[in-house]
Amino acid sequence: MPEVDQVRIALTEEKVHRTIIAVGSGKGGVGKSTLAANLAIALARAGRTVGLVDADIYGPSQPRIMGNEQRPDAVEKQIIPVDAHGVKMLSIGQLVEAGTALAWRGPMVTSALGQLMDGEWSDRDLMIVDLPPGTGDIQMSLVQKWRPAGAVIVSTPQDLALIDATRAIDLFRKMNVPVIGLVENMAGYACPHCGEISDPFGSGGAEAAAGTLGIPFLGRIPLSLSIREASDAGTPPAIGDGEEAALFSTLATKLLD
Ligand code: ADP
Repeated sequence: MPEVDQVRIALTEEKVHRTIIAVGSGKGGVGKSTLAANLAIALARAGRTVGLVDADIYGPSQPRIMGNEQRPDAVEKQIIPVDAHGVKMLSIGQLVEAGTALAWRGPMVTSALGQLMDGEWSDRDLMIVDLPPGTGDIQMSLVQKWRPAGAVIVSTPQDLALIDATRAIDLFRKMNVPVIGLVENMAGYACPHCGEISDPFGSGGAEAAAGTLGIPFLGRIPLSLSIREASDAGTPPAIGDGEEAALFSTLATKLLD
């Protein structure tokens, strides 16, 4: 039996060696979960051992996006993450019935986050945490208890989304979590019939906002029917060899710089 102090040192080292990257947004529906899933896969393809935590307690979508809705096992109350496309994953969506409304107050939400974060991640060196939109209990708890190494913020180019993204960036800064950068999602749509590019949410807004805020602009992901279809089918584009996989791989590399 190891001495108590040895166990404590081992746990501390485990925490130190694991890098946690939070993916956040100001608003819902901007593609935060899509980015988190594809980044996790791209990082795994780059040779990292990656864990993906779906902390979007009120709208968990990773089981669907990652194509694994299996209920995880638990050993002595510690949840065992499931495998999905080379990544290990846990989501609150695996623990509650699909379509069930979660009317949870702060302490229950924090306790659910704890169950996910304290799952059996011992062989993972990098954790991607898909946060709920906004700046609430989950963000505060994650920062206070698990100290992410950095945060990536996702926004559409639209002014309203960017104002909310600015708020999310401000929260991480105030809590001393380095903001790794801003990703613009749903930028530019190529018409599948005529190829003309249109900008339903405007264009260039996120890059300009990143400049104003003094944070790196990490890149833009186009609004694409294939991204939406692949996500709904549980086969994120990052698993393939196309242009979109290359795009997520480039974004992933920027996180490791
Ligand atoms: P959030 O996590 O910010 O709420 P999601 O990642 O769940 O957003 O995305 C919301 C919806 O938009 C999903 O149906 C998703 O497939 C779709 N989506 C996300 N990014 C793109 C994109 N670049 N092109 C097309 N559809 C996208």
